[in-house]
Amino acid sequence: MAQRGIRLFGDPVLRTRSTEVDPADPATRALVDDLFDTLQHAHGIGLAANQIGETRRIFVVDLSQMQPGGPRLAVINPEVVRAGEPVSGEEGCLSFPGLYLQVIRAEEAVLRYQMLDGRTKEVEVSGLFARVLLHEFDHLNGVLYVDGLSAVRRMRVAARLKQITRRQKKGETA
Ligand code: ZN
Repeated sequence: MAQRGIRLFGDPVLRTRSTEVDPADPATRALVDDLFDTLQHAHGIGLAANQIGETRRIFVVDLSQMQPGGPRLAVINPEVVRAGEPVSGEEGCLSFPGLYLQVIRAEEAVLRYQMLDGRTKEVEVSGLFARVLLHEFDHLNGVLYVDGLSAVRRMRVAARLKQITRRQKKGETA
């Protein structure tokens, strides 16, 4: 288990479509452990594998810090089975330190994924849980939460994005 550096916006790995993995591969479990360690250290609620440089279809979500008894799960090879009505809500992203944006996403969703033991699970989620899962799912396809911004709103955060990209070019991680 190890805490890893989180890649910042500007790193091409965040734009790469990740590939499916075998849940039974010991490397999959090792990666899940690293993701949980890194997420916990960063005090985040969700982290995708490519954010630590691994283009594999895995992400972890941990809402237990925010909501006692909240979900903590590793999601492998997910697909979105159904997505509900879009609503606006605030989001951050560990690859964009300090940047919080209003993002439009489905209020509820059904996701199907594999667990580490290889079994397939289907979850019906809503609210913050749905928002986090869909945000992380996008990461696996190289899609980022700034992508849906209007031109005007993108201009408003342009300086901030440039700042993050500059840090990335210097080889910094979050
Ligand atoms: Zn993110």
